[in-house]
Amino acid sequence: MSLEDRINDDLAAWDAAHLLHPTTHIANHAKGIISGRIMAGGEGCTVVDRDGNRFLDGFAALYCVNVGYGRTQVADAIAKQAHELAFFHSFAGNSNEPAIRLAMMVMDRAPAHMSRVFFGLSGSDANETNVKLAWHYHILRGEPARRKIISRWRAYHGSGIVSGSMTGLPGYHTRMGLPLPGFLHAATPHYLRRPDDAMDEAAYLDRLITDLERLIETEGPETIAAFAGEPVMGTGGIIPPPPGYWARVQEVLDRHGILLIADEVVTGFGRTGSMFGSDHFGLRPDFITIAKGLTSAYVPLSGSIISKRVMDVLLAGSEEHGVLAHGFTYSAHPVSAAAGVATLDLIDRMELVANAGTVGGKFKAALQEALGKHKNVAEIRGEGLMLAVEFMADPVRREWFAPMTVAPKIAAAMQARGVIARPLPEGNIIGFAPPLCMTEAEAFRCVAVLADAVAEVLG
Ligand code: PLP
Repeated sequence: MSLEDRINDDLAAWDAAHLLHPTTHIANHAKGIISGRIMAGGEGCTVVDRDGNRFLDGFAALYCVNVGYGRTQVADAIAKQAHELAFFHSFAGNSNEPAIRLAMMVMDRAPAHMSRVFFGLSGSDANETNVKLAWHYHILRGEPARRKIISRWRAYHGSGIVSGSMTGLPGYHTRMGLPLPGFLHAATPHYLRRPDDAMDEAAYLDRLITDLERLIETEGPETIAAFAGEPVMGTGGIIPPPPGYWARVQEVLDRHGILLIADEVVTGFGRTGSMFGSDHFGLRPDFITIAKGLTSAYVPLSGSIISKRVMDVLLAGSEEHGVLAHGFTYSAHPVSAAAGVATLDLIDRMELVANAGTVGGKFKAALQEALGKHKNVAEIRGEGLMLAVEFMADPVRREWFAPMTVAPKIAAAMQARGVIARPLPEGNIIGFAPPLCMTEAEAFRCVAVLADAVAEVLG
Protein backbone atom coordinates (compact mmCIF):
# COMPACT_ATOMS: atom_id res chain seq x y z
CA MET A 1 0.00 0.00 0.00
CA SER A 2 1.42 3.38 -0.97
CA LEU A 3 1.72 6.19 1.53
CA GLU A 4 -0.96 8.07 -0.42
CA ASP A 5 -3.38 5.09 -0.17
CA ARG A 6 -2.77 4.88 3.55
CA ILE A 7 -3.46 8.61 4.01
CA ASN A 8 -6.72 8.23 2.09
CA ASP A 9 -7.75 5.30 4.29
CA ASP A 10 -6.97 7.36 7.38
CA LEU A 11 -8.98 10.29 6.04
CA ALA A 12 -11.99 8.05 5.37
CA ALA A 13 -11.77 6.65 8.91
CA TRP A 14 -11.47 10.16 10.43
CA ASP A 15 -14.41 11.28 8.30
CA ALA A 16 -16.54 8.40 9.64
CA ALA A 17 -15.45 9.14 13.21
CA HIS A 18 -15.87 12.92 13.30
CA LEU A 19 -18.06 14.35 10.55
CA LEU A 20 -21.85 14.23 10.55
CA HIS A 21 -22.85 14.51 6.89
CA PRO A 22 -26.00 16.07 5.42
CA THR A 23 -28.53 13.75 3.79
CA THR A 24 -26.55 10.62 4.67
CA HIS A 25 -27.44 7.35 6.45
CA ILE A 26 -25.81 8.17 9.80
CA ALA A 27 -25.13 4.64 11.05
CA ASN A 28 -23.99 3.19 7.73
CA HIS A 29 -21.56 6.05 7.31
CA ALA A 30 -20.24 5.82 10.88
CA LYS A 31 -19.66 2.08 10.40
CA GLY A 32 -17.92 2.64 7.07
CA ILE A 33 -20.60 0.66 5.17
CA ILE A 34 -21.07 3.66 2.91
CA SER A 35 -18.49 6.31 2.21
CA GLY A 36 -18.58 8.97 -0.43
CA ARG A 37 -15.53 10.05 -2.35
CA ILE A 38 -13.01 12.48 -0.93
CA MET A 39 -12.75 15.02 -3.72
CA ALA A 40 -9.55 16.92 -4.17
CA GLY A 41 -9.56 18.92 -7.39
CA GLY A 42 -11.28 19.77 -10.62
CA GLU A 43 -11.16 21.57 -13.90
CA GLY A 44 -14.05 22.58 -16.17
CA CYS A 45 -16.66 19.81 -15.93
CA THR A 46 -14.23 17.26 -14.45
CA VAL A 47 -13.77 16.59 -10.76
CA VAL A 48 -10.93 14.47 -9.34
CA ASP A 49 -10.85 12.47 -6.11
CA ARG A 50 -7.85 11.98 -3.82
CA ASP A 51 -7.06 8.66 -5.49
CA GLY A 52 -6.72 10.45 -8.81
CA ASN A 53 -9.97 9.10 -10.30
CA ARG A 54 -11.50 11.58 -12.72
CA PHE A 55 -15.25 12.06 -13.11
CA LEU A 56 -17.23 14.02 -15.64
CA ASP A 57 -19.58 15.85 -13.29
CA GLY A 58 -23.05 15.70 -14.84
CA PHE A 59 -24.59 17.43 -11.82
CA ALA A 60 -22.18 20.35 -11.13
CA ALA A 61 -21.85 18.96 -7.56
CA LEU A 62 -25.38 19.93 -6.42
CA TYR A 63 -26.31 21.92 -9.54
CA CYS A 64 -24.14 24.75 -8.36
CA VAL A 65 -20.61 24.78 -9.83
CA ASN A 66 -22.05 26.49 -12.88
CA VAL A 67 -18.90 28.09 -14.28
CA GLY A 68 -17.02 24.82 -13.80
CA TYR A 69 -14.16 23.82 -11.52
CA GLY A 70 -10.77 25.48 -11.24
CA ARG A 71 -11.63 28.99 -12.47
CA THR A 72 -8.71 31.14 -11.39
CA GLN A 73 -10.71 34.36 -11.97
CA VAL A 74 -13.07 33.41 -9.14
CA ALA A 75 -10.36 31.99 -6.87
CA ASP A 76 -8.20 35.09 -7.36
CA ALA A 77 -11.10 37.43 -6.62
CA ILE A 78 -11.72 35.56 -3.36
CA ALA A 79 -8.05 35.71 -2.34
CA LYS A 80 -7.73 39.40 -3.24
CA GLN A 81 -10.78 40.35 -1.22
CA ALA A 82 -9.71 38.24 1.78
CA HIS A 83 -6.37 40.08 1.79
CA GLU A 84 -7.91 43.53 1.41
CA LEU A 85 -10.93 43.24 3.71
CA ALA A 86 -12.01 39.78 4.81
CA PHE A 87 -15.08 41.10 6.58
CA PHE A 88 -17.03 43.99 7.90
CA HIS A 89 -20.74 43.75 8.64
CA SER A 90 -23.54 45.39 6.68
CA PHE A 91 -25.84 46.20 9.61
CA ALA A 92 -26.94 49.83 10.13
CA GLY A 93 -26.24 50.71 6.50
CA ASN A 94 -22.55 49.68 6.50
CA SER A 95 -21.35 48.30 3.20
CA ASN A 96 -18.43 47.08 1.12
CA GLU A 97 -17.52 47.56 -2.52
CA PRO A 98 -18.00 43.98 -3.80
CA ALA A 99 -21.46 43.75 -2.20
CA ILE A 100 -22.49 47.05 -3.81
CA ARG A 101 -21.12 45.98 -7.20
CA LEU A 102 -22.76 42.57 -6.97
CA ALA A 103 -26.13 44.06 -5.98
CA MET A 104 -25.97 46.24 -9.10
CA MET A 105 -25.04 43.26 -11.29
CA VAL A 106 -27.87 41.14 -9.87
CA MET A 107 -30.41 43.92 -10.36
CA ASP A 108 -29.18 44.53 -13.94
CA ARG A 109 -29.95 40.90 -14.72
CA ALA A 110 -33.18 40.52 -12.71
CA PRO A 111 -36.62 41.09 -14.28
CA ALA A 112 -37.37 44.81 -14.64
CA HIS A 113 -40.06 44.96 -11.95
CA MET A 114 -37.62 43.90 -9.20
CA SER A 115 -36.11 46.54 -6.91
CA ARG A 116 -33.50 45.39 -4.33
CA VAL A 117 -31.50 42.35 -3.26
CA PHE A 118 -30.85 41.16 0.31
CA PHE A 119 -27.89 38.79 0.68
CA GLY A 120 -27.74 35.69 2.89
CA LEU A 121 -25.65 32.54 2.72
CA SER A 122 -27.82 29.57 1.72
CA GLY A 123 -30.91 28.92 -0.36
CA SER A 124 -32.65 27.85 2.83
CA ASP A 125 -32.00 31.13 4.65
CA ALA A 126 -33.00 33.15 1.57
CA ASN A 127 -36.36 31.39 1.49
CA GLU A 128 -36.81 32.10 5.20
CA THR A 129 -36.03 35.77 4.49
CA ASN A 130 -38.65 35.78 1.74
CA VAL A 131 -41.30 34.32 4.03
CA LYS A 132 -40.50 36.83 6.79
CA LEU A 133 -40.60 39.74 4.34
CA ALA A 134 -43.91 38.48 2.91
CA TRP A 135 -45.35 38.38 6.45
CA HIS A 136 -43.86 41.83 7.17
CA TYR A 137 -45.43 43.21 3.96
CA HIS A 138 -48.89 41.97 4.88
CA ILE A 139 -48.57 43.24 8.47
CA LEU A 140 -47.53 46.69 7.23
CA ARG A 141 -50.50 46.71 4.85
CA GLY A 142 -52.90 45.91 7.68
CA GLU A 143 -53.50 42.24 6.81
CA PRO A 144 -51.68 40.46 9.66
CA ALA A 145 -53.82 37.33 9.26
CA ARG A 146 -52.03 36.51 6.00
CA ARG A 147 -49.56 33.96 7.44
CA LYS A 148 -50.00 30.76 5.44
CA ILE A 149 -47.55 29.71 2.75
CA ILE A 150 -48.52 27.42 -0.10
CA SER A 151 -45.82 25.43 -1.88
CA ARG A 152 -46.10 22.14 -3.77
CA TRP A 153 -45.55 18.48 -3.13
CA ARG A 154 -42.14 17.37 -4.46
CA ALA A 155 -40.81 20.95 -4.13
CA TYR A 156 -37.41 21.51 -2.57
CA HIS A 157 -36.95 24.84 -0.79
CA GLY A 158 -34.31 23.88 1.77
CA SER A 159 -34.03 22.10 5.08
CA GLY A 160 -34.44 24.81 7.71
CA ILE A 161 -37.58 24.82 9.86
CA VAL A 162 -39.55 27.17 7.59
CA SER A 163 -37.81 26.22 4.33
CA GLY A 164 -38.08 22.52 5.29
CA SER A 165 -41.80 23.08 5.88
CA MET A 166 -42.05 24.58 2.39
CA THR A 167 -40.21 21.58 0.93
CA GLY A 168 -42.73 19.02 -0.29
CA LEU A 169 -40.73 15.81 0.04
CA PRO A 170 -42.15 13.74 2.91
CA GLY A 171 -38.67 12.40 3.72
CA TYR A 172 -37.81 15.89 4.99
CA HIS A 173 -40.93 16.03 7.19
CA THR A 174 -41.36 12.64 8.85
CA ARG A 175 -39.63 12.31 12.19
CA MET A 176 -38.92 16.06 12.25
CA GLY A 177 -42.46 17.12 13.14
CA LEU A 178 -42.74 19.19 9.96
CA PRO A 179 -44.34 20.94 8.20
CA LEU A 180 -45.12 23.67 10.72
CA PRO A 181 -48.82 24.58 10.93
CA GLY A 182 -49.83 26.95 8.14
CA PHE A 183 -47.46 25.50 5.52
CA LEU A 184 -49.67 23.95 2.86
CA HIS A 185 -48.84 21.95 -0.24
CA ALA A 186 -50.60 22.03 -3.59
CA ALA A 187 -50.32 19.23 -6.15
CA THR A 188 -47.10 18.53 -8.07
CA PRO A 189 -47.67 19.86 -11.60
CA HIS A 190 -46.57 16.76 -13.48
CA TYR A 191 -48.74 15.14 -16.12
CA LEU A 192 -46.97 11.79 -15.69
CA ARG A 193 -48.33 11.81 -12.12
CA ARG A 194 -51.91 12.71 -13.13
CA PRO A 195 -54.56 11.20 -10.87
CA ASP A 196 -56.53 9.69 -13.72
CA ASP A 197 -55.04 7.83 -16.70
CA ALA A 198 -57.68 9.05 -19.09
CA MET A 199 -57.18 12.76 -18.42
CA ASP A 200 -55.68 14.78 -21.30
CA GLU A 201 -53.14 17.55 -20.65
CA ALA A 202 -55.65 20.39 -20.88
CA ALA A 203 -58.02 18.70 -18.41
CA TYR A 204 -55.07 17.99 -16.12
CA LEU A 205 -54.03 21.66 -16.11
CA ASP A 206 -57.65 22.68 -15.38
CA ARG A 207 -57.66 20.24 -12.46
CA LEU A 208 -54.43 21.70 -11.01
CA ILE A 209 -55.83 25.22 -11.15
CA THR A 210 -59.24 24.24 -9.78
CA ASP A 211 -57.57 22.39 -6.89
CA LEU A 212 -55.38 25.41 -6.13
CA GLU A 213 -58.44 27.70 -6.13
CA ARG A 214 -60.26 25.24 -3.86
CA LEU A 215 -57.33 25.11 -1.43
CA ILE A 216 -57.24 28.92 -1.29
CA GLU A 217 -61.02 29.19 -0.82
CA THR A 218 -61.07 26.50 1.88
CA GLU A 219 -58.23 28.07 3.85
CA GLY A 220 -59.51 31.61 3.25
CA PRO A 221 -57.58 33.89 0.87
CA GLU A 222 -57.28 36.47 3.65
CA THR A 223 -55.06 34.00 5.59
CA ILE A 224 -52.58 33.27 2.77
CA ALA A 225 -49.36 35.26 2.49
CA ALA A 226 -47.51 33.69 -0.43
CA PHE A 227 -47.17 30.85 -2.91
CA ALA A 228 -43.67 29.49 -3.48
CA GLY A 229 -42.50 27.49 -6.48
CA GLU A 230 -39.42 26.58 -8.44
CA PRO A 231 -39.98 27.63 -12.09
CA VAL A 232 -38.76 24.11 -12.98
CA MET A 233 -38.98 21.73 -10.02
CA GLY A 234 -35.47 20.54 -9.22
CA THR A 235 -34.77 17.99 -6.52
CA GLY A 236 -38.33 16.68 -6.72
CA GLY A 237 -37.54 15.27 -10.17
CA ILE A 238 -36.49 18.05 -12.60
CA ILE A 239 -40.07 18.66 -13.67
CA PRO A 240 -40.83 21.51 -16.09
CA PRO A 241 -44.29 23.03 -15.65
CA PRO A 242 -47.12 21.97 -17.95
CA PRO A 243 -47.51 24.55 -20.78
CA GLY A 244 -49.55 27.51 -19.53
CA TYR A 245 -49.29 26.49 -15.84
CA TRP A 246 -47.47 29.58 -14.53
CA ALA A 247 -49.72 32.09 -16.32
CA ARG A 248 -52.79 30.45 -14.77
CA VAL A 249 -51.24 30.20 -11.30
CA GLN A 250 -50.16 33.83 -11.48
CA GLU A 251 -53.72 34.89 -12.38
CA VAL A 252 -55.15 33.03 -9.36
CA LEU A 253 -52.55 34.52 -6.99
CA ASP A 254 -53.07 38.07 -8.29
CA ARG A 255 -56.82 37.76 -7.89
CA HIS A 256 -56.42 36.72 -4.24
CA GLY A 257 -53.65 39.18 -3.26
CA ILE A 258 -51.17 36.32 -2.69
CA LEU A 259 -47.47 37.05 -3.25
CA LEU A 260 -45.32 34.82 -5.46
CA ILE A 261 -41.90 33.55 -4.35
CA ALA A 262 -39.99 32.17 -7.36
CA ASP A 263 -37.32 29.90 -5.92
CA GLU A 264 -34.55 30.22 -8.50
CA VAL A 265 -31.78 28.69 -6.40
CA VAL A 266 -31.26 26.21 -9.24
CA THR A 267 -32.74 28.03 -12.24
CA GLY A 268 -31.15 31.44 -11.53
CA PHE A 269 -28.25 32.67 -13.69
CA GLY A 270 -28.71 30.61 -16.79
CA ARG A 271 -29.51 26.99 -16.13
CA THR A 272 -32.69 26.91 -18.25
CA GLY A 273 -31.02 28.78 -21.12
CA SER A 274 -32.51 32.09 -19.88
CA MET A 275 -30.95 34.28 -17.19
CA PHE A 276 -33.85 33.49 -14.84
CA GLY A 277 -36.56 30.85 -14.95
CA SER A 278 -38.97 33.71 -14.30
CA ASP A 279 -38.01 35.17 -17.71
CA HIS A 280 -38.17 31.75 -19.31
CA PHE A 281 -41.77 31.10 -18.20
CA GLY A 282 -43.05 34.69 -17.96
CA LEU A 283 -43.51 34.74 -14.16
CA ARG A 284 -43.94 38.03 -12.29
CA PRO A 285 -42.63 37.14 -8.83
CA ASP A 286 -42.55 39.34 -5.72
CA PHE A 287 -39.45 37.53 -4.47
CA ILE A 288 -36.76 35.61 -6.35
CA THR A 289 -34.60 33.27 -4.27
CA ILE A 290 -31.03 32.98 -5.56
CA ALA A 291 -27.98 31.03 -4.34
CA LYS A 292 -25.87 28.24 -5.95
CA GLY A 293 -25.07 29.73 -9.40
CA LEU A 294 -24.59 33.23 -7.93
CA THR A 295 -21.04 32.29 -6.85
CA SER A 296 -20.90 28.91 -8.60
CA ALA A 297 -20.54 27.62 -5.00
CA TYR A 298 -16.92 28.76 -4.76
CA VAL A 299 -18.01 30.31 -1.46
CA PRO A 300 -21.52 30.43 0.10
CA LEU A 301 -23.86 33.24 -0.90
CA SER A 302 -27.59 33.56 -1.40
CA GLY A 303 -30.02 36.37 -2.05
CA SER A 304 -33.63 37.47 -1.94
CA ILE A 305 -34.54 39.73 -4.83
CA ILE A 306 -37.53 41.86 -3.87
CA SER A 307 -40.13 43.42 -6.19
CA LYS A 308 -40.93 47.14 -6.38
CA ARG A 309 -44.47 46.60 -5.10
CA VAL A 310 -43.15 44.88 -1.95
CA MET A 311 -40.27 47.35 -1.53
CA ASP A 312 -42.64 50.34 -1.71
CA VAL A 313 -44.56 48.96 1.26
CA LEU A 314 -41.37 48.13 3.19
CA LEU A 315 -39.97 51.62 2.55
CA ALA A 316 -43.15 53.34 3.70
CA GLY A 317 -43.46 50.97 6.68
CA SER A 318 -39.99 51.73 7.99
CA GLU A 319 -40.76 55.48 7.95
CA GLU A 320 -43.42 54.63 10.51
CA HIS A 321 -41.98 51.59 12.36
CA GLY A 322 -38.19 51.94 12.16
CA VAL A 323 -35.46 49.34 11.69
CA LEU A 324 -35.96 46.10 9.74
CA ALA A 325 -35.20 43.56 12.48
CA HIS A 326 -33.80 40.85 10.23
CA GLY A 327 -30.29 39.96 9.10
CA PHE A 328 -27.33 37.66 9.50
CA THR A 329 -23.77 38.45 10.60
CA TYR A 330 -22.58 37.36 7.17
CA SER A 331 -25.21 39.17 5.07
CA ALA A 332 -23.42 40.82 2.13
CA HIS A 333 -20.12 39.14 3.08
CA PRO A 334 -17.38 40.86 1.04
CA VAL A 335 -15.48 37.68 0.14
CA SER A 336 -18.66 35.94 -1.05
CA ALA A 337 -19.69 39.07 -2.94
CA ALA A 338 -16.29 39.26 -4.66
CA ALA A 339 -16.79 35.66 -5.79
CA GLY A 340 -20.26 36.62 -7.06
CA VAL A 341 -18.92 39.55 -9.10
CA ALA A 342 -16.25 37.30 -10.69
CA THR A 343 -18.79 34.54 -11.35
CA LEU A 344 -21.41 36.74 -13.04
CA ASP A 345 -18.66 38.33 -15.10
CA LEU A 346 -17.44 34.89 -16.20
CA ILE A 347 -21.00 33.78 -17.05
CA ASP A 348 -21.22 36.75 -19.43
CA ARG A 349 -17.74 36.38 -20.90
CA MET A 350 -18.08 32.65 -21.52
CA GLU A 351 -21.68 33.13 -22.81
CA LEU A 352 -22.84 30.37 -20.50
CA VAL A 353 -26.54 31.21 -20.61
CA ALA A 354 -26.63 30.67 -24.36
CA ASN A 355 -24.45 27.56 -24.00
CA ALA A 356 -26.93 26.06 -21.51
CA GLY A 357 -29.67 26.49 -24.11
CA THR A 358 -27.80 25.09 -27.10
CA VAL A 359 -25.90 22.24 -25.44
CA GLY A 360 -28.97 21.47 -23.33
CA GLY A 361 -31.09 21.08 -26.46
CA LYS A 362 -28.60 18.68 -28.04
CA PHE A 363 -28.18 16.76 -24.77
CA LYS A 364 -31.94 16.24 -24.52
CA ALA A 365 -32.23 15.16 -28.16
CA ALA A 366 -29.38 12.66 -27.65
CA LEU A 367 -31.10 11.25 -24.54
CA GLN A 368 -34.28 10.85 -26.56
CA GLU A 369 -32.46 9.07 -29.33
CA ALA A 370 -30.49 6.75 -27.02
CA LEU A 371 -33.22 5.91 -24.52
CA GLY A 372 -36.57 7.21 -25.80
CA LYS A 373 -37.74 3.72 -26.79
CA HIS A 374 -36.37 1.80 -23.79
CA LYS A 375 -39.11 -0.30 -22.16
CA ASN A 376 -38.61 1.31 -18.74
CA VAL A 377 -38.17 4.93 -19.76
CA ALA A 378 -41.33 6.83 -18.90
CA GLU A 379 -40.18 10.35 -19.71
CA ILE A 380 -37.21 12.42 -20.86
CA ARG A 381 -37.71 16.03 -19.87
CA GLY A 382 -36.12 19.31 -18.90
CA GLU A 383 -35.08 22.79 -19.97
CA GLY A 384 -31.56 23.89 -20.90
CA LEU A 385 -28.97 22.06 -18.82
CA MET A 386 -31.50 20.70 -16.35
CA LEU A 387 -32.60 17.30 -17.64
CA ALA A 388 -34.08 14.11 -16.29
CA VAL A 389 -34.88 10.57 -17.33
CA GLU A 390 -37.65 8.89 -15.30
CA PHE A 391 -37.89 5.10 -15.14
CA MET A 392 -41.02 3.02 -14.49
CA ALA A 393 -41.61 -0.74 -14.27
CA ASP A 394 -44.21 -0.38 -17.03
CA PRO A 395 -44.76 3.12 -18.44
CA VAL A 396 -47.70 2.00 -20.62
CA ARG A 397 -49.68 0.57 -17.70
CA ARG A 398 -48.26 3.26 -15.41
CA GLU A 399 -46.70 0.80 -12.98
CA TRP A 400 -43.98 2.42 -10.87
CA PHE A 401 -40.82 0.89 -9.47
CA ALA A 402 -40.55 1.20 -5.69
CA PRO A 403 -38.88 4.58 -5.04
CA MET A 404 -35.09 4.69 -5.15
CA THR A 405 -34.68 1.05 -6.14
CA VAL A 406 -33.45 1.43 -9.72
CA ALA A 407 -32.04 4.94 -10.19
CA PRO A 408 -29.35 4.65 -7.46
CA LYS A 409 -28.07 1.48 -9.18
CA ILE A 410 -27.95 3.27 -12.53
CA ALA A 411 -26.10 6.22 -10.98
CA ALA A 412 -23.60 3.82 -9.36
CA ALA A 413 -23.04 2.03 -12.68
CA MET A 414 -22.44 5.44 -14.28
CA GLN A 415 -19.96 6.44 -11.61
CA ALA A 416 -18.07 3.20 -12.17
CA ARG A 417 -17.72 4.44 -15.78
CA GLY A 418 -16.50 7.89 -14.71
CA VAL A 419 -19.68 9.99 -15.00
CA ILE A 420 -21.64 11.53 -12.12
CA ALA A 421 -25.42 11.89 -12.41
CA ARG A 422 -27.87 12.26 -9.52
CA PRO A 423 -30.63 9.82 -8.58
CA LEU A 424 -33.32 12.25 -7.41
CA PRO A 425 -35.18 11.36 -4.19
CA GLU A 426 -38.55 9.63 -3.86
CA GLY A 427 -38.69 8.23 -7.39
CA ASN A 428 -36.49 6.54 -9.99
CA ILE A 429 -35.18 9.55 -11.78
CA ILE A 430 -31.69 10.23 -13.10
CA GLY A 431 -30.97 13.96 -13.16
CA PHE A 432 -28.39 15.90 -15.12
CA ALA A 433 -27.51 19.51 -14.29
CA PRO A 434 -23.86 19.90 -15.28
CA PRO A 435 -21.70 23.02 -15.23
CA LEU A 436 -23.07 25.46 -17.80
CA CYS A 437 -19.73 25.27 -19.65
CA MET A 438 -20.40 21.63 -20.64
CA THR A 439 -19.44 20.92 -24.25
CA GLU A 440 -21.49 18.94 -26.74
CA ALA A 441 -18.90 16.12 -26.61
CA GLU A 442 -19.16 15.95 -22.82
CA ALA A 443 -22.95 15.89 -23.03
CA PHE A 444 -22.82 13.00 -25.52
CA ARG A 445 -20.47 11.12 -23.18
CA CYS A 446 -23.03 11.50 -20.35
CA VAL A 447 -25.69 10.03 -22.65
CA ALA A 448 -23.54 7.11 -23.83
CA VAL A 449 -22.55 6.23 -20.27
CA LEU A 450 -26.18 6.45 -19.10
CA ALA A 451 -27.25 4.13 -21.92
CA ASP A 452 -24.58 1.58 -20.92
CA ALA A 453 -25.56 1.81 -17.26
CA VAL A 454 -29.26 1.36 -18.08
CA ALA A 455 -28.42 -1.71 -20.19
CA GLU A 456 -26.44 -3.12 -17.25
CA VAL A 457 -29.18 -2.49 -14.64
CA LEU A 458 -32.41 -2.95 -16.64
CA GLY A 459 -31.35 -4.82 -19.76
N1 PLP B 1 -34.23 25.99 -3.13
C1 PLP B 1 -33.94 25.13 -4.11
C2 PLP B 1 -34.76 25.17 -5.37
C3 PLP B 1 -32.90 24.21 -3.98
O1 PLP B 1 -32.65 23.33 -4.95
C4 PLP B 1 -32.14 24.24 -2.80
C5 PLP B 1 -31.02 23.30 -2.62
O2 PLP B 1 -30.80 22.39 -3.40
C6 PLP B 1 -32.48 25.14 -1.79
C7 PLP B 1 -33.52 26.02 -2.00
C8 PLP B 1 -31.74 25.17 -0.50
O3 PLP B 1 -30.49 25.71 -0.68
P1 PLP B 1 -29.34 25.43 0.42
O4 PLP B 1 -29.03 23.99 0.37
O5 PLP B 1 -28.22 26.34 -0.03
O6 PLP B 1 -29.90 25.86 1.72
